[in-house]
Amino acid sequence: MNRNLKDRALAAIDAQRDALINISTTIHTNPEIAFQEFQASALLCDQLARAGFAVTRGVGGLETAFRAEAYGNGVGPTVALLAEYDALPELGHACGHNIMGTAAIGAALAVKNVLAELPGRVVAIGTPAEEGGGGKVILVDKGIFNDVDVAMIVHPSGRTLVVRGSLASTRLFLEFSGRASHAAAAPEDGINALEAVILTFNNVNALRLHLRSDARVHGIITSGGTAANIIPDYAAAQFSVRAAKQAYAQEVLRRVIQCAEAGAAATGATVKFWTNPSYAELIPNMALAEAFTQNWESIGVRVEPPRPFERGGSTDMGNVSHVVPAIHAYIKIVGDGIGGHTIQFRDAAVSPMGHAGMIYAAKGMALTTIDLLSDPELMARIKNEFDETVGKQQIERLGKFE
Ligand SMILES: [Zn+2]
Ligand SMILES: [Zn+2]
Repeated sequence: MNRNLKDRALAAIDAQRDALINISTTIHTNPEIAFQEFQASALLCDQLARAGFAVTRGVGGLETAFRAEAYGNGVGPTVALLAEYDALPELGHACGHNIMGTAAIGAALAVKNVLAELPGRVVAIGTPAEEGGGGKVILVDKGIFNDVDVAMIVHPSGRTLVVRGSLASTRLFLEFSGRASHAAAAPEDGINALEAVILTFNNVNALRLHLRSDARVHGIITSGGTAANIIPDYAAAQFSVRAAKQAYAQEVLRRVIQCAEAGAAATGATVKFWTNPSYAELIPNMALAEAFTQNWESIGVRVEPPRPFERGGSTDMGNVSHVVPAIHAYIKIVGDGIGGHTIQFRDAAVSPMGHAGMIYAAKGMALTTIDLLSDPELMARIKNEFDETVGKQQIERLGKFE
């Protein structure tokens, strides 16, 4: 019965292939950055609504987020398929999120075809602003995942992986205010905001010597004065602060803020700071990953085994993995050695290999959704693992605050 449903879902994706490629290409051609993804989210919502999903646009207070639900036949789990569709400033879809949005929709539409014969519910969730804005962090906080049992997302990449962690991460924004003066005629009247920034970088470099090896701190100066003969009264910088786990990332963040405060104290400038919503580290659910891997292999996708101590970036999917069992898989769409956030990767996101990757991503999620809805034992294994790993950590962490 399961095989029959799976074959029909795969056939549905093959039948939709040209339409899906069209959607992916349309999103790619009109790149929209964080929280501005109006066209992309409308395009994806329209497809879901046309297929009979109950679509709620603008969930969690985010205009470009959405949730689309379809019910099966009877009580069962709720499986969430996550879509990203934001682009990078200037570079466009160089992270290939056009593929992610389209693949999630493709999977949801395919499962909808056979949902009358399955219990439970499929939910496609549109999650804006992965590139820095933390749409999923906000949606988690707003309770959008409260009734979800399991969540999946697939990202394009130079490699095909089902299990890969990510670093906890926070973006820190700093603004220093001083006092302008004539650099030669009245330097003693000035308070140099740029020197406060430079001291901050030097302090961070001194701190770096004593950080754990998993910590990553990188900064840029976003404003550093207007002319060499004016003492800058304003300067600004941004830091990305990361570590393997949230707790240590927050500790490093606290110390980087101290570095900025010390820079301000030394120069007499004042400093203001704020952060984006922090991204938690990703905790992949291994039972879910195993089912997903088997499904990908059943359609000829070669999955690389997980590597210990694999390096990686950060994603707001980490926060989702702290509240529901989740995976963040990767599908190869480029030749070896080409990384994301490059022109080559952007071109690959609408190449024949990019389209093929999008279809494989949709198929992997559709097949695994059918397993999750039809196999209560698999769902139980996934939940047990979550309770044993993430659940226990949460309880320990809460305990510490008491
Ligand atoms: Zn990216
Ligand atoms: Zn990305």
